Amino acid sequence: SKNGGRNRFSYFTPDLQEAAQARQNMGADLRRAITAGQFEILYQPIVSLHTGAVHKAEALLRWHHPTRGLLGPAEFIPFAESNGMIVDIGDWVFREAARQAHAWQASIDPSFQVNVNKSPVQFRRDADMYDGWLTYLEQLGLPRQSIVIEITESVLMQGAEQVLARLQQYRAMGLQVALDDFGTGYSSLSHLKKFDIDYVKIDQSFVSQLETDDGDLALCEAIIAMAHKLGLKVVAEGVETPGQRQLLAEAGCDYAQGYVFAHPLPAGEFEEMARESRKA
Ligand code: C2E
Ligand code: CA
Ligand code: CA
Ligand code: CA
Repeated sequence: SKNGGRNRFSYFTPDLQEAAQARQNMGADLRRAITAGQFEILYQPIVSLHTGAVHKAEALLRWHHPTRGLLGPAEFIPFAESNGMIVDIGDWVFREAARQAHAWQASIDPSFQVNVNKSPVQFRRDADMYDGWLTYLEQLGLPRQSIVIEITESVLMQGAEQVLARLQQYRAMGLQVALDDFGTGYSSLSHLKKFDIDYVKIDQSFVSQLETDDGDLALCEAIIAMAHKLGLKVVAEGVETPGQRQLLAEAGCDYAQGYVFAHPLPAGEFEEMARESRKA
């Protein structure tokens, strides 16, 4: 093998050293990324299944790494969580998303919303950012319900009291809340009633086989009916085909996002598409 010569004399250390070095580099690179302007948010349209108009955007983070190229969240968010940098990154994402929501309320629709993802680690750690966010929203003149915080079901399973308190803080701030990846967690149904949320996002795994699996269709229909009874709106994720879109519309689903409409887009392209969707 090509490493044979080197490894013959020290079996383990090179790899361990490389791994440690890689983590150190990643940490240093990540610390610079915000100030160097290497983060970009892509925006994926969330489309009304009733009108076809783009009503909201989900903010999806990307990192233009100086040597490694374009990185998706899976390649750096777990690391940023493990060393706490996720709090500063999340602060940047929140402010950038709010600034963009404010611009789009002027150019697309006065009630336009931007959805911001929040990992379980962030959810536990970023409470001291809240005052700063409220001040920022006030400075922008952005109504607070313009930001929808997306949390996964797994967050709701980490000690109910603390989670409830945090969610109540969001509500008190006037932000909206969406339950992401719905259906993949444990005891989903009780969460809908127990926690004060605005949107349920049906996970892609229930959408991808909709056209061939009657069980998945029945599940989607049941989630939609139940959510509506509880006064929540439903977003279907990962919609890739016209057939899936049609079945979800027939099932009464409110919104959908996925490649059948658009991939996550740079802000400029997003705005163009959203404006176009309203011309019909
Ligand atoms: P998510 O919140 O479940 O986001 C949906 C993911 O599905 C996105 O991947 C999106 O690009 C992808 N997607 C959208 N439509 C389709 C489709 O039709 N088919 C398929 N196969 N995939 C589709 P992405 O952008 O790589 O993000 C992955 C995850 O990273 C997100 O999952 C979210 O949990 C996390 N994430 C993204 N941005 C942030 C952020 O700013 N902060 C935090 N904490 N997490 C983020
Ligand atoms: Ca999400
Ligand atoms: Ca999701
Ligand atoms: Ca997901």
